[in-house]
Amino acid sequence: MSHLLLDPQEYPAGIAIWGGVEPIFMTAHRPNEEAGIHIHARKLPVAEKDIDQSFDEVTFRDCTWGRDIQIDQDAAVGFMISQILGVNMRHVICINCASDIFLGRQFAAYPSTSHTCPSCSTVNTTVEEAVANPLITLRERYSSRIEPAVISPNRPLSLSWDKFPGGIDIWGSNQAIIWNAQKPEEEGLHVHWYASDGTMLRDDTFDSVTLGAIKVDVKAARLWMAQREVHRLRAATRSITCKECGNQVCDEGIQARVPSTTHRCATCAHIAQSTSPIIANPMPATVKLLMDSWKLAQK
Ligand SMILES: [Zn+2]
Ligand SMILES: [Zn+2]
Repeated sequence: MSHLLLDPQEYPAGIAIWGGVEPIFMTAHRPNEEAGIHIHARKLPVAEKDIDQSFDEVTFRDCTWGRDIQIDQDAAVGFMISQILGVNMRHVICINCASDIFLGRQFAAYPSTSHTCPSCSTVNTTVEEAVANPLITLRERYSSRIEPAVISPNRPLSLSWDKFPGGIDIWGSNQAIIWNAQKPEEEGLHVHWYASDGTMLRDDTFDSVTLGAIKVDVKAARLWMAQREVHRLRAATRSITCKECGNQVCDEGIQARVPSTTHRCATCAHIAQSTSPIIANPMPATVKLLMDSWKLAQK
């Protein structure tokens, strides 16, 4: 179990923290370096990062507030889920026992006005529906507040299957829990690929990704990264094709976390129907297609 005590004053050139999860597409069989809590930290602006690593647990020394905040992996992944699915987060401190309330990643897609304290069972209420997650406090205190906060990198990627003999890992980007660099975060797909000896050939974020002849839908991939972490969402996700235009349908907004029988096609605005309530997302099918193509290319 790796632990880091992170004092932001030691890294004046910038800190970023994310909840790391398994890649949404992964052909490289190596330990996933980004699972856990992924940290970037720099002492000097021009030098290499002093920390570019993941930890099981991080203690963040919040000097402005005079207290340490524990960042555990479940809350960090919960933050990613709520953020990608557009769910409001609140730091709810129990009125009875003063614990920070977090109910686990399985609840990160379900905002509510009542929040039962896991320590003492007191029901705390918020005026607006929200998911209780103490890490939103870090986001609010330590984000650089630049506009726009997120940009599209305008960096397309198209790779044939022979360009990564050592494998490829793809994640959806998600906004950091802490991001204090004076530049916007890049939104898209984060990709690592490797030479046959395992050395990383590139580590970057792209706003369009095509492997072989298969284009990965960036929006669907980012939503799937959050949906697959919540059992009920994962179980409800299906691929459906629009009968009007033949394109895959991907539910967005509230429908990306609440199953329904109607699904709006983003290409032609046709409303596709499903016989039972589901969440439409082409990504599980795309991942299977990518894996089959990768295996075929290895023969
Ligand atoms: Zn309590
Ligand atoms: Zn359509």
